[in-house]
Amino acid sequence: MTRLILATRNAGKITELRAILADAGLPHELVGADAYPDVPDVKETGVTFAENALLKAHALARATGLPAVADDSGLCVDVLGGAPGIFSARWSGRHGDDKANLDLLLAQLADIDDTHRAAHFACAAALALPDGTERVVEGHLRGSLRHTPTGTNGFGYDPILQPEGDSRTCAQLTPEEKNAISHRGKAFRALVPVVRELLG
Ligand code: IMP
Repeated sequence: MTRLILATRNAGKITELRAILADAGLPHELVGADAYPDVPDVKETGVTFAENALLKAHALARATGLPAVADDSGLCVDVLGGAPGIFSARWSGRHGDDKANLDLLLAQLADIDDTHRAAHFACAAALALPDGTERVVEGHLRGSLRHTPTGTNGFGYDPILQPEGDSRTCAQLTPEEKNAISHRGKAFRALVPVVRELLG
């Protein structure tokens, strides 16, 4: 059985990708980066989600000698020309402060009316092999931004993104409902034929 490593310490992401690979009948064993604690984190110096996902996947594949998957994601707001984009996790200047990031974005968009609040979550998922072979796929979740946060599930910008065709925000969806339509779910599912092609 081929071991595949996922460049994350987030148990939720590992469970999600593991289930997708198993549902597709792929026998590969998926482990998180925690299984290789000596591998240092990679600086995300790319300027696109795809570049950052590839950087992380290549670094992990090189360091472990195993096929490696990495993802990079964020929120892209049309009226802001795609920002926060790759800066989503540190939009307010403090990495990972979800509330400060969301509050700043809402303040910036305060005067923008509903017709111009289109936005989407984007996720790039990359697979890299130790020999340097690489593939990258993307998934999107389109919607519009609310004026006030609603819902308590999820994380990040979930309380303000209302998916197209739904009257709830992402933070009002169950984890299963969100995985079924999410940018990350779509990108991970798009990886299935890539894993099959490169790893058999
Ligand atoms: P990461 O690529 O998973 O580290 O995500 C980067 C940042 O994008 C997160 O810190 C969030 O601010 C935002 N983000 C990515 N995916 C989601 C999502 O599914 N819901 C809400 N925010 C997200």
